[in-house]
Amino acid sequence: MHKLFSRVALTVLGLGMAIMPMNVASAKTTFITIGTGGITGVYYPTGGAIAKIINERFDQLQIKATAEATGASIFNINAVHSGDLDFGIAQADSQYLAYNGQGEWQGKPVKDLRAVFSLAPEMITFVVAEDSNIKKLEDVKGKVINIGNPGSGNRQNAIDIFNAMGINYEKDFKAESLKAADAPRMLQDGRIDGFFYTVGHPNGNIKEATAGMRKTRIVAIPEIKALFENFPYYSLDTIDMTAYPEATNAKDGKVTTVGMKATFITSANVPDEVVYNITKAIFENIEELRTLHPALANLTKEGMIQGLTAPLHPGAEKYYKEVGLIK
Ligand code: GLU
Repeated sequence: MHKLFSRVALTVLGLGMAIMPMNVASAKTTFITIGTGGITGVYYPTGGAIAKIINERFDQLQIKATAEATGASIFNINAVHSGDLDFGIAQADSQYLAYNGQGEWQGKPVKDLRAVFSLAPEMITFVVAEDSNIKKLEDVKGKVINIGNPGSGNRQNAIDIFNAMGINYEKDFKAESLKAADAPRMLQDGRIDGFFYTVGHPNGNIKEATAGMRKTRIVAIPEIKALFENFPYYSLDTIDMTAYPEATNAKDGKVTTVGMKATFITSANVPDEVVYNITKAIFENIEELRTLHPALANLTKEGMIQGLTAPLHPGAEKYYKEVGLIK
């Protein structure tokens, strides 16, 4: 019985190897994990797209990549630092704060944090129920607003905005700490009046929030002087409302808000060769990357080396020099 089993097993293995001679993990295989965000955001499909491009080239790279759903930017930076993740996606502002030991990382700079490339822009997105009567930021007083889970980057963004406006997020309204993936349902169920999500567009989360029975709108975030003066990484941007036709202010076309870039990060402890191979695979296949999620459609090679604040990982730097993207 045992003999029969092993013969069958060997045959199956043999057949498998004949069909895909190289596509099995071996002692040489490097396994990497990529931390993303909630499954309805843009980080999760972006991490999946990066993993797909890597895994499709297993024969050349000998790398197997997996993208994991996580609490997002801050969680990913901390997990890359501790070695629980090899790569992660994080907002450019979180990258800056972590490397420089500010905000969340006050007095504890993450000196081994390394930038690999940047991704699509993200915008601070403030979705509210029409019946909450919130038309501008000041109207949040007395309302229930989700500012995001502690591992997220968007939580700090909401806090920065309210601080810059002189609104106390601990007193002037009820700030919830829900994960982004849960916020649209909570809004539709009437449990919250609105939520903040710093995210690329279009995405499933804001579609879900705006397409339900309870009517919703996206509130503009104006140019707040104190915000731009204090934080170099914020810039004005707009949300294209064509992605959210059911929002009550869809006819506005574009809604002004504050944005920054999403970035792909790693640790100085990840070997140069691994980072080099991944960077090269992604840059050489940027056309494929652009097709894997609509929020990635406008990526350019030149744009992907901008917006980075932590030092470049030497593996990525080697590739950019080789192709002349940097000197
Ligand atoms: N920018 C969000 C954060 O780090 C995550 C966005 C996403 O998952 O697409 O908090």
